[in-house]
Amino acid sequence: MQFADRLNAIETSAIRELFKLLGKPGIISFAGGFPDPALFDVEGIAESTAAVLRTQSSAVLQYGATEGYGPLREALSQFMAAKGATVPPEGLIVTTGSQQALDLVGKTLISPGDKVIVESPTFLATIQCFRLYGAHLIGAPIDADGVDVDRLEQLIAEHRPKLVYLIPTFGNPSGATLSLARRKRILELAVRTGTIVVEDDPYGELYFDQAPPPSMLALSDSVPGNRDWLVHCGSLSKVLSPGLRVGWMIAPAPLLARATMCKQFSDAHTSNLTQATAAHYLGLNRLDAALANVRRTYAERAGVMAQCLRQELGDAVSFNAPQGGMFFWARLTGEGSGNAVAGPDAAAFAKRAIDKLVAFVPGAPFYCEQPDHATFRLSFATSDLAKIREGMQRLGQAL
Ligand code: PMP
Repeated sequence: MQFADRLNAIETSAIRELFKLLGKPGIISFAGGFPDPALFDVEGIAESTAAVLRTQSSAVLQYGATEGYGPLREALSQFMAAKGATVPPEGLIVTTGSQQALDLVGKTLISPGDKVIVESPTFLATIQCFRLYGAHLIGAPIDADGVDVDRLEQLIAEHRPKLVYLIPTFGNPSGATLSLARRKRILELAVRTGTIVVEDDPYGELYFDQAPPPSMLALSDSVPGNRDWLVHCGSLSKVLSPGLRVGWMIAPAPLLARATMCKQFSDAHTSNLTQATAAHYLGLNRLDAALANVRRTYAERAGVMAQCLRQELGDAVSFNAPQGGMFFWARLTGEGSGNAVAGPDAAAFAKRAIDKLVAFVPGAPFYCEQPDHATFRLSFATSDLAKIREGMQRLGQAL
């Protein structure tokens, strides 16, 4: 069978291969990127689904508008307003998860050979998706405060990219959060250089103690002209439930119009049933309590993971404890590791870990270029404290 040329740039990810091994009985997995299903507000979602079926059945079981279900666009406009961003309902479209918003960014903006700057490391599905549209990806280095803006400025000047894609808050996989000062500098940089900046923000609500800096979208009103260059992708996946597949895209009007057109050819519209359910849920006044529970639970798990990582792996790994989100990004230092001679290799470590019945994801696939093979990602979201303690002990034995 002759497949489209565009598939030549994509490989099935190493992570997929690893996931095949996760079925082993007794394995403790920190490999996934799923939220904890025990934290879903099933009661609230059930109540909302029943209510919309009872009161809006002909609308929610029917075809609907590509831009999104009216009441949800209004509810999301209010949701964004509560986070300091002014967006009228017609300034956003609902997408089938924020994953679709990223796909629409690729479809509407990237021609084969276009340069796109992403963080190094970044979300694997974005790398794959943008490559499908022929993007030439360039990695910008990051530290605990997010992307290095001096380097980003140089890369923009050198490559004149079509767009810059960032996960500024509790990044996947890095866990890093872009500082307020850097956010403002990037907003100014976008206007000054005429560069589109895509802010992907599925994790911003999952903070532990302190709310993160406002989103770049919320800050954009303070930088004249910035809204012409800013795209924001949001999602209810980590806030409410990924199974609803409700995300959204906020973009300058001409881009939003083209994204809507492309979405029409792709899935016509996102499920009205789940959109209406989400809209109803957001009106119930349950989200704050549900989120408080998620934040408290994840904060506790992240705290224990940090403590056990230090205790069980000591000098063998370095990491920055995240302040929110779902991930630790760690690096083998070469100290006390089984393959110190060959240089620390997280893929080999992952294989030894599987033998000890504990799993995580090696970091290399998250880099669009020049991977750091010593890095790896651990998710604490779906493991209770006992599993985290036991898993970290096993990890220590796999070094
Ligand atoms: N962006 C990032 C950074 C993610 O980690 C994810 C999901 N893991 C998504 C986008 C897509 O999420 P969804 O389609 O469920 O909104």
